[in-house]
Amino acid sequence: LTFEEANLCETLRRNVAKAGYIKLTPVQKHSIPIILAGHDLMACAQTGSGKTAAFLLPILSHMMNEGITASQFLTLQEPEAIIIAPTRELINQIYLDARKFSHGTCVRPVVVYGGIQPVHAMKDVERGCNILCATPGRLMDIISKEKIGLSKLKYLVLDEADRMLDMGFAKEINRLIESPGMPKNEERQTLMFSATYPEEVRRLALKFLKSNHFFVV
Ligand code: AMP
Repeated sequence: LTFEEANLCETLRRNVAKAGYIKLTPVQKHSIPIILAGHDLMACAQTGSGKTAAFLLPILSHMMNEGITASQFLTLQEPEAIIIAPTRELINQIYLDARKFSHGTCVRPVVVYGGIQPVHAMKDVERGCNILCATPGRLMDIISKEKIGLSKLKYLVLDEADRMLDMGFAKEINRLIESPGMPKNEERQTLMFSATYPEEVRRLALKFLKSNHFFVV
């Protein structure tokens, strides 16, 4: 299957071609149709498998089709998608890919992480965004300070779930799902990626995913 044949809008197909992608990797071949169909997903995939495009492209495709709030009209800090990943390097790479794939659309991705960050990062969040890329601790920080609201949240991605748990982010991840205003499992699409599938990740998947749509790629 090639990206030309995948059910993506014209702008996305153009951005993917510009990135030099021609054929889908196995994780993309499995995940993209499941996500486009609106299902939740638990995928076991390693770094380097192409998992970033596997979740970004169908989310962006949904946003294009549903008509998102154009970034110049974003007044509320209510992202439609939140992506969390364990490290600054990883979340920044996801953010850069989100920018690359959303080029020429009105989708606005923003990235926040713990530690030292450019001064404009919080300003970027305050200006509003459609896709918020964050490390778990930083995300809970801005949620608890009410810098963002969750009422528009439709897509939640947990990338490298096993590593987030290994790094001690279980508390943040559980607080996220219990946040006041967090849409219920049935009201959002949740996508989980993990290199390994130990008991703790399984438990997290049971808590986060709609039980009737549970896929392991
Ligand atoms: P990831 O696993 O998402 O970190 O991707 C690993 C690397 O593979 C990144 O440099 C991507 O840009 C690249 N990549 C992802 N999907 C494809 C594809 N379908 N064709 C060629 N390169 C890809």
